[in-house]
Amino acid sequence: MLFPYRVIIVGAGLGGLALAHGLRGQGVDVAVYERDAHPDARPQGYRIQLDEPGLTGLRRCLPAPLFRLCLATAGAPPARVSVRNRRLEVLADRAAGGGSPETAGGSGAAGGSGGPGGAAGPYAFNRPTLRQIMLSGLTGHVHYGARLVDYRHEADGRVTARFADGRSATGDLLVGADGVHSAVRRLLLPGARVEDAGLRLVYGRIPLDARSRAGLPDWVFESIFTVITGGPGHPHLGVGPVELGARPEHAGLAQRPPAALSPVGDYLACMVGAPADHPAMPAFEELRELTPAALRDLALRVLGEDWHEDVHRLLARWDTHSLFPLRISTATPVPAWESGPVTLIGDAIHAMSPVLAMGANTAVRDAGELTRALGGAGDAPDPAGPLVAAVRAYEGRMREYAFAIVADSRRTGQRRVGQRERPRPLPR
Ligand SMILES: Cc1cc2nc3c(=O)[nH]c(=O)nc-3n(C[C@H](O)[C@H](O)[C@H](O)COP(=O)(O)OP(=O)(O)OC[C@H]3O[C@@H](n4cnc5c(N)ncnc54)[C@H](O)[C@@H]3O)c2cc1C
Repeated sequence: MLFPYRVIIVGAGLGGLALAHGLRGQGVDVAVYERDAHPDARPQGYRIQLDEPGLTGLRRCLPAPLFRLCLATAGAPPARVSVRNRRLEVLADRAAGGGSPETAGGSGAAGGSGGPGGAAGPYAFNRPTLRQIMLSGLTGHVHYGARLVDYRHEADGRVTARFADGRSATGDLLVGADGVHSAVRRLLLPGARVEDAGLRLVYGRIPLDARSRAGLPDWVFESIFTVITGGPGHPHLGVGPVELGARPEHAGLAQRPPAALSPVGDYLACMVGAPADHPAMPAFEELRELTPAALRDLALRVLGEDWHEDVHRLLARWDTHSLFPLRISTATPVPAWESGPVTLIGDAIHAMSPVLAMGANTAVRDAGELTRALGGAGDAPDPAGPLVAAVRAYEGRMREYAFAIVADSRRTGQRRVGQRERPRPLPR
């Protein structure tokens, strides 16, 4: 059914942009408000892996040509996730696509690399390219430099969002897609907790061309992602190839209307992770201030010497300028709340550690689920009105699938990469 409302989305990350497309596809009046001053205001990170359920969410939300462009510019490495020890012996190996790794040799068939039509996945996207494609279809609907600070309920049931620069926007529904430190969540659910998972990452890239590829070990290309673990409580290394199917700058221009996509070369995403309480790891506030060269020194010091020589060879090729630090957060399950004209999607409600690569998958799934629920708004009469009934249906489903994945990510993180068993509150 045509949904005759206005929806305000806070946050132009993957979740918020997918939702904007999904709702616009149903004729809904959508406005996205993003804190950053412009789309390139800060680095968006590197690799992002989408399988099911993210691909279904993306397909449900995006216009078909944009969805095809996303897949065409992604890579489809072997659909396996491997866990190895410091000597590179395989500890676990599973078909990619969510869930915990099974023991070595014990898992079923690979998930299949799909194709532009089928999209079974998994796909390794260059995150900035994916975001550029999603933005390209929303010109005029995304407002930058708009940091939400507050919202209020109007007497007619609508909601007005207020932004730090004095702007405001009123809609029938306000969706917080504003990530792990969500301002909308803090206002809507002040009791909801997001905690420091006790993991720090130094994240970067190893550029790939024919020459550099020839000098790298084969095993890094045999799985969509490989975790090399030093054991619980010890540092780890994560590696994932991003070898794009089509050059984004060419594929974008072939699109009608053309999409201006930045050129990008193939690379290996490569991160070193360690428990926050590792003796060599400084406080996050300090880590954030380190130069890329100092981050590199720190990561190598934290990792230590006692690893297979391939690991040292890989890290010798790390592009120092690409390095930045990350603190990993995890949400605590939130009991059901009374639904209304303000809701949440993605990391804003269910932040999780990246160990299962399910955060963006789930954010995009949320976008698809909310689009579907709102599309059917009015199908079942409800005393609270069709909009709140649709939001309630979405929230009920989302709480169930999303917090199960948060818990699975937490367990796997504890077992594989030393995620803290008792997370600590994040500084406000
Ligand atoms: C190292 C690493 C690797 C990962 N790899 C994967 C992977 O392979 N696969 C996967 O599925 N997930 C992965 N994830 C998780 C994934 O990055 C997140 O789950 C995903 O980005 C969440 O999307 P989102 O749209 O909810 O939030 P975000 O992407 O965080 O977007 C939120 C947006 O809201 C804006 N914003 C924030 N506050 C405000 C405000 N007050 N007002 C206005 N705008 C605001 C922000 O600027 C941002 O643009 C990874 C995470 C990490 C750390």
